[in-house]
Amino acid sequence: MEVVRMYGGQAPIFILKEGTDRVRGKSAQSNNIAAAKAVADAVRSTLGPKGMDKMLVDSMGDVVITNDGATILKEMDIEHPAAKMIIEVAKTQEQHCYDGTTSAVVIAGELLKRSEDLIEQNVHPTVICHGFRLASERAVELLEKHSTSVTDEDTLAEVAKTALTGKSASAVKAFLADICVRAVRSVGIEEDDGERSVDIDDIKVEKRQGGSIKGSTLIDGIILDKERVHSGMPRSVNDAKIALVNSAIEVKKTEVDAKIQITDPSMLAKFLEEEEGYLKGLVDKLHTSGANVLVCQKGIDDIAQHYLAKAGLFAIRRAKKSDMEALSKATGGRIVTNIDDLKSDDLGNAAKVDERKIGDSDMVFITGCPEAKSVSVLLRGGTEHVVDELRRAFDDAVGVISVAWEDGSVLTGGGSVMAALSRDLRIYAEGVGGREQMAIEAFAGALEVIPRTLSENAGLDPVNTIIELRKAHAEGKGTYGVNVFEGGVMDMKEANVIEPLRVVEQAIQSATETAVMILRIDDVISSKAVSGAGMDGMDFDM
Ligand code: ADP
Ligand code: MG
Repeated sequence: MEVVRMYGGQAPIFILKEGTDRVRGKSAQSNNIAAAKAVADAVRSTLGPKGMDKMLVDSMGDVVITNDGATILKEMDIEHPAAKMIIEVAKTQEQHCYDGTTSAVVIAGELLKRSEDLIEQNVHPTVICHGFRLASERAVELLEKHSTSVTDEDTLAEVAKTALTGKSASAVKAFLADICVRAVRSVGIEEDDGERSVDIDDIKVEKRQGGSIKGSTLIDGIILDKERVHSGMPRSVNDAKIALVNSAIEVKKTEVDAKIQITDPSMLAKFLEEEEGYLKGLVDKLHTSGANVLVCQKGIDDIAQHYLAKAGLFAIRRAKKSDMEALSKATGGRIVTNIDDLKSDDLGNAAKVDERKIGDSDMVFITGCPEAKSVSVLLRGGTEHVVDELRRAFDDAVGVISVAWEDGSVLTGGGSVMAALSRDLRIYAEGVGGREQMAIEAFAGALEVIPRTLSENAGLDPVNTIIELRKAHAEGKGTYGVNVFEGGVMDMKEANVIEPLRVVEQAIQSATETAVMILRIDDVISSKAVSGAGMDGMDFDM
């Protein structure tokens, strides 16, 4: 309880509600730092090609096996507010760059660990924050110097392969990289002024378990995880004219609860006939508009199914809204609500619509679309867990390719750039002098956590590796990084370990910002037992 004691024997004044917890000064700082470091330690062992996977079991018993930093942190139920801030780092990284989540978190943890040492040596947190900011700005400037600009497909494939290394999909990385490059290239837009952009959402992914990863394919069109509603319909339609309807094809229910009293059998027959007639009318309208395929977002009545089949149409029901939109975009069709309004120029076009058996059930493929700005990828894998992790690896790979293609700048990985930056920053620190120098040196040391962890995870001696790495960089071998497969150091350029500049830049920036944010806190005031109250809505001035 917070009590302010007044002079002169006045009664104490309570400024905070009863039950409020308050931790101040050094202990607030060390608590926060400890929590943040704990989060970083939790994902550390997954970093790099030799990183291990984690198995996460939620309260419902569902299992996720992954190597992906962001996924691990998302699945972990973390309470501590400072720990949550570290998770934000991973989220930001994932959203902007698709990769480098573990690296960002590990760097943030290391920055905080090194600040702890500085605080012990009586360097004030504000000085540390200032030094870290200077170092981070400098590092970002220097990154440009170490980057090369390339956008040829081979390099893009190498970027994807680097992102896939160490994941369970690693064994088939060349195969997957190829799919990813083709997918990004087919949806990528290049303006006349050289500005490039990729809308990742134009790459639709369908997962299907059963079969092997090698059965995964890229389809120039759209895949729907659906089957035709009636077995009497054709299995495949060439030169498809597709009606996209977002309302149910069934007899309209009355809004009010009405009862119809039927007194003789002929009335019943007439009543049913009427209903049938209505549905038949709808199908006729579809038919006369020229449609030979119907994709309905809602249900299709049994009787309507029968008439559709009789009219030789191929129909799918309960398509996802996102699929409807993708179809509209790819086929040039318009989504209509009322079939009465359907005109022939509302119909979408595709060279072929067909149903194929994939694994143990059917899927519908819509290919040869005129506006094929969207492509689909079908991911296959032995079991659900394999397919799920493959999906995450695929997202990373497609993401980094799109980032590399948009920006056109790449760096060598394997800790090479971190080692180079570390060296540059130590030289820079000398010029700054004072206590900030200590902070910049700590920052320089913290970046080496990447090569150090890469070698640790590969079962190598981290101290030896860092010594060898520093030696190589001192000799001007600026692209040397950790040889995680044979030990020692090697040229990452030759080994084709390449990553987008944006991934590294963002990792350094968000790790620094978060470390600074945590360091500036010297007072934690927490209300009791308001579950679910997180850090949301709190402002930190930086
Ligand atoms: P993140 O979540 O940070 O992307 P990863 O587990 O994907 O973590 O590991 C990324 C790190 O592994 C990067 O520093 C990258 O340069 C490095 N790396 C990838 N492939 C290799 C390789 N063949 N040799 C050495 N380092 C590699
Ligand atoms: Mg990665």
